Amino acid sequence: MNKTAFITGGTRGIGKQIALTLAKEGYDIAINYRTQNNELEETKKEIEQNKVQCFAVQGDVSNYEDCEKFVKEVVEHYGTIDVLVNNAGITKDMLLMRMKKEDFEDVIDVNLIGTFNVTKQVIPIMMKARSGRIINISSVVGVSGNAGQTNYSASKAGIIGFTKSLAKEVASRNILVNAIAPGFIQTDMTAILKEEIKEEIAKNIPLKRMGKAKDVANVVKFLSSEDSSYITGQVLHVDGGMLM
Ligand code: NDP
Repeated sequence: MNKTAFITGGTRGIGKQIALTLAKEGYDIAINYRTQNNELEETKKEIEQNKVQCFAVQGDVSNYEDCEKFVKEVVEHYGTIDVLVNNAGITKDMLLMRMKKEDFEDVIDVNLIGTFNVTKQVIPIMMKARSGRIINISSVVGVSGNAGQTNYSASKAGIIGFTKSLAKEVASRNILVNAIAPGFIQTDMTAILKEEIKEEIAKNIPLKRMGKAKDVANVVKFLSSEDSSYITGQVLHVDGGMLM
């Protein structure tokens, strides 16, 4: 029987690439999506081309009841979840002076509380199985900070604290919990930046380029595999050397 990986925000960007990469490794895939669109069908088709199953569940990670419902659906479908990737995330950038309270709250709700909401549903399943991998997608700015991103940086720094604390709680059950801190990765999230800004950012990255979703997905593959069975509570930086 194939192992099962569940990825939140799995229909585009980094989440989609993670789903495809784990599908190539032979995992049956469950993806969560918030918005119904053509990307969902396209992603499903691409995953299934790897001769594995793809089961899609709708819901907003910031809504606790949605998470209860969609995790239950995944478990009813596959019987278990071996790997959870908390990937869904948003930005609402603004200098603090002008940031609205709702924009601070929305980003914390999706990125940090969403990670709690989904993990809370999945942990009992992994505890029972006495094994599991949880991989949380943080960000370089959760460690370094970034002007205009107090909300986003706080959410991503929170994910790091969450990761380390949970890793300590569940290590005895052979559940490994790690975070990945990507730098600037080419997706819709960074496509909104002006070309000059992107060039300026790339110039300051030691490897002189923005990252690809695949760069992050390959590290998820490693953290899901037996090769990383002695790694827990860590933050792996995938940022071309931006932060050393
Ligand atoms: P995208 O904006 O391309 O994709 C975000 C994904 O998250 C979409 O699938 C989106 O679904 C989903 N999502 C957003 N809000 C919710 C929600 N409330 N419930 C369920 N799903 C939701 O982003 P990236 O692929 O670039 O980012 C993926 C992760 O990586 C995020 O956590 C991001 O913070 C992190 N990251 C990205 C970096 C980058 O440079 N791109 C750098 C560092 C970290 P929908 O299509 O329905 O909106």
